[in-house]
Amino acid sequence: MNSSELLTRGDLEALDRADPLRGFRDRFAIPEGVIYLDGNSLGAMPAATPARVRKVVEEEWGRDLIRSWNINGWIDLQRQIGAKIGRLIGARDGETIVADSTSINVFKALAAGLELRPERKVILSEPDNFPTDLYVAQGLTRYLGRGHTLRLAEPNEIESAITSDVAIVMLTHVNYRTGRMHDMRRITERAHAAGAIMLWDLAHSTGAVPVDVTGAGVDLAVGCGYKYLNGGPGAPAFLYVAQRHQPHIEPILSGWLGHAAPFAFEQSYRPAEGIDRVSVGAPPIISLAALEVGVDVMLDASIDAVRAKSVQQGVIFDRLVAQEIGQGTLTLVSPTDPAMRGSQLCYAHPNAWPVMRALIDREVIGDFRMPNILRFGFTPLYLGYAELWDAVATLKAILAERAWDRPEYHALATVT
Ligand SMILES: *Cc1c(COP(=O)(O)O)cnc(C)c1O
Repeated sequence: MNSSELLTRGDLEALDRADPLRGFRDRFAIPEGVIYLDGNSLGAMPAATPARVRKVVEEEWGRDLIRSWNINGWIDLQRQIGAKIGRLIGARDGETIVADSTSINVFKALAAGLELRPERKVILSEPDNFPTDLYVAQGLTRYLGRGHTLRLAEPNEIESAITSDVAIVMLTHVNYRTGRMHDMRRITERAHAAGAIMLWDLAHSTGAVPVDVTGAGVDLAVGCGYKYLNGGPGAPAFLYVAQRHQPHIEPILSGWLGHAAPFAFEQSYRPAEGIDRVSVGAPPIISLAALEVGVDVMLDASIDAVRAKSVQQGVIFDRLVAQEIGQGTLTLVSPTDPAMRGSQLCYAHPNAWPVMRALIDREVIGDFRMPNILRFGFTPLYLGYAELWDAVATLKAILAERAWDRPEYHALATVT
């Protein structure tokens, strides 16, 4: 493809035929006719998930009952799936565990980071971080009552804001709205040079872009199971703690499954060795089973191939928007340099909400983010190139016909 020539649907069909990830599409159950550009918000369902969930419910729970904690390995699932996710983020064995939600893991990780730097009082983040991360930091500092503050710096000013009073730098690697990607290695280095702990939220990174927490020297990380890992709605999240910190972490949520001997039923809390100590209570086994199916599919793919296709899909989508719809109608909010963004593109449009409603009615599913953003996620395992053409063609038609301008498209839904 010459970058100055007009793209045709035929060009994209040729890319599909040559796509090394093409075979993964069949490992997902996607309704016929749907173009799914929202896997960054809720990943599609792997085809193997229903059978696995049915087996867990009918055989493991229904037949084997409580014996399943031992005979079906339920008690090992958090660590086992954690280790698999660890491979996707460059962690070593025993550094990652699946537990709780991302929000709760942010709480646990932040509290741990603050304890590692007791003499410092500042949590540093950015104003456009995913709100739950900021809310959790606000709640934690209020609860601790020890004079901690949340300081916010714009992305370009983060590095200079890492001063000697910062206990922990908490950033989301790929921004949920714009897709902007931080330089993990560089910022982690800066945090360490200033004596701070580094906490990364990998919700929009894991399974989407190569991550190397070991290479970057990351201290703490959290991430999400239901986005690019395709673990299902509300799937359990994960927490990474670098080995060197594990012995020094006194879990704020000191639950029985983080105890050194849960089944000794002792009266006082003693943390388990290693990553197990950040586990809290009994995990949702049915959801863990579904998550493992998604993670296994992802592990079969090369993350470099996923990234290469994701970058190419983003570049092509943006070219098609310019070519078919024209500059000026949609304003790209994501970084223009593909190396600087994750696996999504965002465009501002004054009528973004009704436009997205109209798109979804025509089976092109992206999403809307406040205040005026159309967001399109690229999930290379199950999204084809020709679908990009069809998505942009649908968007073009909706804009040309003003098909979005109907009263029922204007009312906001509860979940956007
Ligand atoms: C999706 C997302 C979350 C989700 O948190 P939950 O507790 O699972 O609802 C957290 N942080 C970021 C950056 C996200 O993108």
